[in-house]
Amino acid sequence: MKKQQTQPTPETLDRIKSVVGPQGWSLDPNELADHLVEWRQQWHGQTSLLVKPATSEEVAAIVRICAETATPIVPQGGNTGLVGGQIPFHNEILLCFNRLNKILSVDTVNNTISVQAGCVLAAVQDAAEKVDRLFPLSLASEGSAQIGGVLSTNAGGNAVLRYGTARNLVLGLEVVTAQGKIWDGLKGLRKDNTGYDLKQIFIGAEGTLGIITAAVCKLLPKPRDVVTALVALRDVAAALEFLTLSQTACGDLVSAVELIPRIGIEFVIRHVPDARQPFSPLNEWNVLIEFSTAQYPGTLRPTVETLLERALERGFVLDGVIAESGPQAAQLWLLRERLSEVQRYEGGSLKHDISVPVSQIATFLDQATRAVTAAIPGVRPVPFGHIGDGNIHFNLSQPTDMDTEAFLNRREEIARLVYDIVVSLGGSISAEHGVGVAKRDEIRRYKSAVELSVMKSLKHALDPQGILNPGKVV
Ligand code: ZN
Repeated sequence: MKKQQTQPTPETLDRIKSVVGPQGWSLDPNELADHLVEWRQQWHGQTSLLVKPATSEEVAAIVRICAETATPIVPQGGNTGLVGGQIPFHNEILLCFNRLNKILSVDTVNNTISVQAGCVLAAVQDAAEKVDRLFPLSLASEGSAQIGGVLSTNAGGNAVLRYGTARNLVLGLEVVTAQGKIWDGLKGLRKDNTGYDLKQIFIGAEGTLGIITAAVCKLLPKPRDVVTALVALRDVAAALEFLTLSQTACGDLVSAVELIPRIGIEFVIRHVPDARQPFSPLNEWNVLIEFSTAQYPGTLRPTVETLLERALERGFVLDGVIAESGPQAAQLWLLRERLSEVQRYEGGSLKHDISVPVSQIATFLDQATRAVTAAIPGVRPVPFGHIGDGNIHFNLSQPTDMDTEAFLNRREEIARLVYDIVVSLGGSISAEHGVGVAKRDEIRRYKSAVELSVMKSLKHALDPQGILNPGKVV
């Protein structure tokens, strides 16, 4: 939206401060620092006031003042987003949910948990665990990511194949509208066909249509038996054959399938002291696969062993290890979970969070690798991720002998090469990280005029003044 942004007057700031009281706001530079820069130091913001409301009513009262005075406001969860969606770039009011962090209720018959937006994802997982249930959303940043942010960005992670993205795990929401009204949609219903599904409009909207203050999430049966294996494969096509064979043999027991290239394992072993090489020699393409069931332990492992034997016989699996214990499974997961982070020790990296239909993954990797290698000879592709749901993190580490700045300056040109291939294969240029500011201009290029116009109509209808997270998404 091209709306002229208003800087808040001292009077507006005083009114907001009086809503939350002395505990509920801050201008302390030390406290602000945690909220104005994200962990990779890529995005830097500034704010006229950090507000920390303690109730949904306070959030609503703050937004009412913002609406009356056309004051822009940016909601921020655990500040773990990767596309700058949570950063105030133009001195907006910054809304923090750290004090809205209560588990409201747990219902083990309805299998639901109601939580406030500031609950950390790991705390929701723990609350589920305590009542012998699973909240399956799982991400590298789960120790800091908050449920409001996770829902506002429709986060994905490692368990999407079996349980879906954040969107699939929500039954109800409480939302503060751009007018400062509270919509209480905290229903724990699995069936509700009374018109538009409003909650889905706010999920994945990155705080641009309304502010999520609480949610009712689904709980699932807790897995009692988990088998984790790392498998070396002939090539990417073989990885897809292995995925299909696993799903045919084991159905929805397959809970995660993650692609890891040799260079990724080498990076982790080089930079993480606890990491160990899973087999020798290392193979070009590997898949970390996890099976789980709510049944009592015993039946799963023989099933997985039979599956691996069959895959070895067919020649698309070359080698494999099945974890013998929880710590060994954690060792295997370490190779996957530290992958994104260790790239920073290998110089500059260009990251592309993309998805294509699972059947197109081998074609995508082949075409994209050729294109980027032709553009920058010596570039080191480190494609990894959620091959089971078609989401690849097509990350590129710089050539070892290239200047980092010169490499990073090729960002836009390389993104265009990668995204053109993605879109030609029916894929998406942002699979799970969202749009924020990082991809706002890109979606204008890759989404259809009709799609963009519907998005703008929605934004205009719900937030006509453009005060909610301005400059993000649309
Ligand atoms: Zn991911």
